[in-house]
Amino acid sequence: MFDHLTNPVLIETRAAVARFIEDELRPLERELGLGTEDPWPREVLRNVWRRSSELGLYAACLPAELGGKGLNIQEQCALKADLAVSGAVLAPHVLGDLGGPPRVGNMLKYATPDQVARYFRPVIRGEKSTCFALTEPHSGSDAQSIRTTAVADGDDLVIHGQKHYISGAPFADFAIVMCVTDASATPPAITAVLVDLDLPGVTVEQAYVPMSGQHIDADIRFENVRVPRANIFGGEGRGFKLGMSRINVNRLLHCPSMLGLAARAYQASVEYAGQRRQFGGPIARFQAIQHMLADMAAALWACESMIAQTAMLADAGADLRMKAAACKLFVSERCFEVADKAVQIHGNVGVTRGHPVEQTWRKLRMFRIFTGTSEIQRNTIAKAILDPAAA
Ligand SMILES: Cc1cc2nc3c(=O)[nH]c(=O)nc-3n(C[C@H](O)[C@H](O)[C@H](O)COP(=O)(O)OP(=O)(O)OC[C@H]3O[C@@H](n4cnc5c(N)ncnc54)[C@H](O)[C@@H]3O)c2cc1C
Repeated sequence: MFDHLTNPVLIETRAAVARFIEDELRPLERELGLGTEDPWPREVLRNVWRRSSELGLYAACLPAELGGKGLNIQEQCALKADLAVSGAVLAPHVLGDLGGPPRVGNMLKYATPDQVARYFRPVIRGEKSTCFALTEPHSGSDAQSIRTTAVADGDDLVIHGQKHYISGAPFADFAIVMCVTDASATPPAITAVLVDLDLPGVTVEQAYVPMSGQHIDADIRFENVRVPRANIFGGEGRGFKLGMSRINVNRLLHCPSMLGLAARAYQASVEYAGQRRQFGGPIARFQAIQHMLADMAAALWACESMIAQTAMLADAGADLRMKAAACKLFVSERCFEVADKAVQIHGNVGVTRGHPVEQTWRKLRMFRIFTGTSEIQRNTIAKAILDPAAA
């Protein structure tokens, strides 16, 4: 996938990532007996971040001045698709997708020098992990309805509330927490605050497991947690703007991960259709199976083309609001359909708990919910069509 990209730095990075996976991560996964649905020991993850950092891979997506390789968005898409298609359990930790450099690199410009030194540089070096905490039990798509408060008290802020379904929270050292600092304003003033997760009054609770079976999401409770006002990130009342500032690119950058997962399920289906024999020969000779494979291949090609084109526009600085929403909507729905066909082709094998194709089906289903549900993407697209001035 994305074989049209010829930057030598990207080609070298893709090869180095492939070597890291084959030579180090897969043997480690085998040695520890680590599966996608096992809780990942924090120490194992720390070692992966550190090693990826030593190899110059962890911050690859950041600009050179931040220790990265300066890959553009198209090139980042290629790298992310490679990681997902590898099927390696620890693949999301190679670039730190869940709490590493991709989560903070674009926000550095809003951080104070002290915040850069204490929080953000350690994340880029693979020494600390973070998470982004906006959603609450009663507040999802309507993100401005959050109720977690940060109340000024001398030089401190006192934080009280609960965040829900926060990715990376189980192994994060600090959270970027969206808090209401002035509920009387319209809309309420929302401020981002950096909160260490080992402070008194903070509890990280893993009371549920998403359908993917991964132990990567948790709730975070804050009971009158004191943090210095110096931990306000990006300016008081500017948290919502900060959160929204990269949403279009974030939506786009989820797409190659979905594509990689779906491509792996497709490859498994081609292989299985050639091997599985019924009625005296391989099931690949049935036109019904051939048509499913053809639809899968066509959908994957459409997704790859759409991602490549949207990423090219992103690199050119185009307004992505409508196109990133369209890309996330289309790719998440098509890739789920590809996984569904993969399950169908695999018959009872495909519906067996823990089979890679069944796991992929569950993982891909979730992408239609987070970073804005399919309905929210459609709202954004419709707004751009019907009310372009307000979009
Ligand atoms: C695996 C996973 C990881 C996540 N990681 C994070 C994270 O790291 N940080 C974080 O802050 N949050 C995270 N979330 C939360 C995620 O952002 C929310 O789940 C998402 O925004 C949707 O909110 P909701 O689930 O409360 O659904 P709701 O907003 O309650 O929506 C329920 C249904 O109503 C529909 N709906 C709602 N409003 C509208 C509307 N205006 N028009 C049409 N339909 C509408 C939705 O599309 C959906 O079908 C994660 C969620 C999941 C599942």
